[in-house]
Amino acid sequence: MSSYVAEVVAKVKSKNSAEPEFLQAVEEVLTSLTPVFDRRPDYRKAKILERIVEPERAISFRVAWLDDQGEVQVNRGYRVQFSSAIGPYKGGLRFHPSVYLGILKFLAFEQVFKNSLTTLPMGGGKGGSDFDPKGKSDLEVMRFCQSFMTELFRHIGPDTDVPAGDIGVGGREIGFLFGQYKRLANEFTGVLTGKGLNWGGSLIRPEATGYGAVYFAAEMLATRRETMEGKLCLVSGSGNVAQYTVEKVTQLGGKAITLSDSSGFIHDPAGITPEKLAFVMDLKNVRRGRMKEYAERFKGSTYTPVQPGLDHNPLWKVKAHCAFPSAIENEINDKDAQNLLRNGVTVVAEGANMPSTIPAQRLFVEERILYGPGKAANAGGVATSGLEMSQNSMRMSWTREEVDNRLRMIMKEIHRTCVDASAAYGTPGNYLNGANIGGFLKVADAMMDHGVV
Ligand code: NDP
Repeated sequence: MSSYVAEVVAKVKSKNSAEPEFLQAVEEVLTSLTPVFDRRPDYRKAKILERIVEPERAISFRVAWLDDQGEVQVNRGYRVQFSSAIGPYKGGLRFHPSVYLGILKFLAFEQVFKNSLTTLPMGGGKGGSDFDPKGKSDLEVMRFCQSFMTELFRHIGPDTDVPAGDIGVGGREIGFLFGQYKRLANEFTGVLTGKGLNWGGSLIRPEATGYGAVYFAAEMLATRRETMEGKLCLVSGSGNVAQYTVEKVTQLGGKAITLSDSSGFIHDPAGITPEKLAFVMDLKNVRRGRMKEYAERFKGSTYTPVQPGLDHNPLWKVKAHCAFPSAIENEINDKDAQNLLRNGVTVVAEGANMPSTIPAQRLFVEERILYGPGKAANAGGVATSGLEMSQNSMRMSWTREEVDNRLRMIMKEIHRTCVDASAAYGTPGNYLNGANIGGFLKVADAMMDHGVV
């Protein structure tokens, strides 16, 4: 890291000391950008770095709602509007008890560079609440979403800020949020993405993040003249991203053998076939049950509960060729990374945001495995949200094939940008540097054009 970049990182640390996830994301990106600043003194003079680490706006608000017993409940809602340099703010909403400003700042910061990589005109934002949808009735989720949107609606709009889903926010929540926005604003516009097909949604949006991560892995493998055919794949999580990662791995001839939730993981050496995946989709999306039931239902599979205090995750010790972390940030630490490498994993494609700690990332890069960081590998979701916005603006719907083809082309393009940028700045094959530099340059140039704002 150059002394200038180190100085900026130190300033960010002193100003945001209670936000470790945000600091981690900033340190990762800025470390990669050192060679750019060696070549571009004009960026330094314009204080692009100092400005790009400060959100344009961060809103925090009270969300009061009534539970099924008639008790008043109070949660905290947020929207972090990080950068509008290349388009309206765009990024998901997360409902999870761990949510606080620091998590959303990290996610919104990542989103700025991810959205730039997609080649579509979208700025970066993220929002959510510490509300936990787990164990809540549909009516409680509806009342919460209505109260949340009653404040959020004044800050968003189809040309201002277009939220989508993330952890804890799927089709059900987007429906309730959209219904309340429409009622308050008295307009039917593409203010959210991930909408239902009957009211402005796009085909392939639910599949896009998982499919995109597998397309990205296939592109990385192609650089070594390999394919997904016959590859054993570890997948973590069992939500939206994990489910469609398993589906695409299987379609491309690979075999997905693990899934997890916050209580534990299943290992199915015979592979998670389409029939078994249908069971998981019903379990998670309809019955909202736990992965433990998978091992009870399918002979030959095993369930390992989470062991509090363990210094590694045993899921990453299962022998495989590829890993698709698709649950949550920092789910792969340095011990897990060592276990993956020891067991022969040569491809890591991150469906989740920042699932690898900085020491784990370093190990992947040093060992020169095919390591696709989240902001590149999981960008298919937001890219397809961008395609949903285009269809809404044109008041048209594209076919499944058309959206899927565009998604595949975008993932190819993102892969190419990573390869080219990493080579141009002296670290060929380093997708981490490639994604950070490739995403940054477009945003930085737009900021230069816009003057000091
Ligand atoms: P979902 O809410 O659909 O699923 C999240 C999954 O992760 C659940 O299975 C959940 O289990 C599991 N999980 C949560 N916390 C933990 C934990 N501590 N340990 C193990 N498993 C855990 O979310 P998504 O699939 O949408 O999101 C997953 C990841 O992908 C997130 O990092 C998100 O930011 C990222 N992402 C999502 C995109 C999208 O389009 N949805 C786009 C780009 C990135 P449980 O039910 O027990 O909570």
